[in-house]
Amino acid sequence: MALMALTPDICIRGAGIVGRVLALLLARERLRVSLVSPPRDPASGHGDVRAYALSPKAKALLESLRCWPDERFATPVLEMQVHGDQQGHLQFSADTQNVAALNWIVDVPALEAKLADAVRYQGAIEEVPSPVHAPLTVVCEGRASQTRAALGVEFSTTLYPQHAIATRIDCEHAHGQVARQWFTPGGEILAFLPLDGPQGKQVAVVWSVRTERVSELMNCEPGAFAAQLAETSGGALGAVAMAAERASWPLMLAHAKRWVGTMPGRPGESFALAGDAAHAMHPLAGQGLNVGLGDVSELAGVLASRPSWRSPGDMRLLRRYERARQADWLRMSLTTDAMQQLFSRPEGMLASLRNWGMTIFDHSGPLKSGIARLAMGTADAQMPRTPFTSD
Ligand SMILES: Cc1cc2nc3c(=O)[nH]c(=O)nc-3n(C[C@H](O)[C@H](O)[C@H](O)COP(=O)(O)OP(=O)(O)OC[C@H]3O[C@@H](n4cnc5c(N)ncnc54)[C@H](O)[C@@H]3O)c2cc1C
Repeated sequence: MALMALTPDICIRGAGIVGRVLALLLARERLRVSLVSPPRDPASGHGDVRAYALSPKAKALLESLRCWPDERFATPVLEMQVHGDQQGHLQFSADTQNVAALNWIVDVPALEAKLADAVRYQGAIEEVPSPVHAPLTVVCEGRASQTRAALGVEFSTTLYPQHAIATRIDCEHAHGQVARQWFTPGGEILAFLPLDGPQGKQVAVVWSVRTERVSELMNCEPGAFAAQLAETSGGALGAVAMAAERASWPLMLAHAKRWVGTMPGRPGESFALAGDAAHAMHPLAGQGLNVGLGDVSELAGVLASRPSWRSPGDMRLLRRYERARQADWLRMSLTTDAMQQLFSRPEGMLASLRNWGMTIFDHSGPLKSGIARLAMGTADAQMPRTPFTSD
């Protein structure tokens, strides 16, 4: 919708979930936004097969924008079960944490559609096909951001020797609102995330597999792939059948060396990075988008609280944003990286130790509670030290 004055306050490059949420947050603060979203290639294929685990904080943010999908597309998780590669196990429940749900599994196309509608009807947001000048440019182009590269910002990247394969399956038994995860002996991780509401029998699958197996698993017959899922999950939900295509992503731990700066050759203009353009992490703890939404919530708050004489591109404001968000990103990425490292090592002693550790940990009230709060995005900066955090 184009009621835009000549110069926007902020230009957002990238209309993924993070970019759209930021546009809506800024428009709510009466800032004028140009959102760069190049026309979509109709041949670019089907919708996203993924469903994201979103925290109570992310839910509250999306609800405040009236963009939370209806209950068919946002299934509350009442229990999480994590199985080690030997006998170790961990279990968290909403009951023992005294919350309505640990998190929600949200259908990605449904959330994207809600956000696209909200943006369309917001008069302070103009969707534009290419970047425009503005005092502040926020780069939300995802992990392969071209603007970040053009700005000369280094993206420090460590590739995991794994890819994630995502799909959806119909199961013989109802999921019972339980999110299940299996760490398998080769360091692979399989997750079944409940879909279709409380009575649903469909789950979203995220399977982090060794890179050398991706091609075989992506190209085998659907029935053979489903059979491997049933076997790896120990038949937890009975017989399973494919309900969607498969898609795959290389996995990495990555972060931009700078999250804010001035625009080269454009006096008076600055930039900030947010979401996957600033950081990427392993999906085993389902935190990437939660952290990205934390970024834009912080940035919108910093911009809204500035004195009116201060430009949105003022570097003091942007550094405040950078400092606040790097701490949260670091905490989440170290935790997921430590878990990935711990379970990717095949050595016998280490395998026994980690499974023993999981079971001990399962009986440790405060530590367990701390990890549960971390997963729910409700932990404060002072997390208790756990077997999964590193110095
Ligand atoms: C398998 C898997 C499972 C995951 N599960 C979870 C989960 O359960 N919970 C969770 O919180 N996170 C999860 N994540 C992480 C999550 O997918 C990302 O953190 C999230 O998508 C980042 O959103 P974004 O908007 O920053 O980037 P993206 O989703 O990558 O969006 C970037 C947008 O920018 C556009 N763009 C790119 N370049 C340009 C350009 N030059 N100009 C204009 N536009 C451009 C793209 O087309 C796209 O629309 C998962 C990731 C994977 C791989």
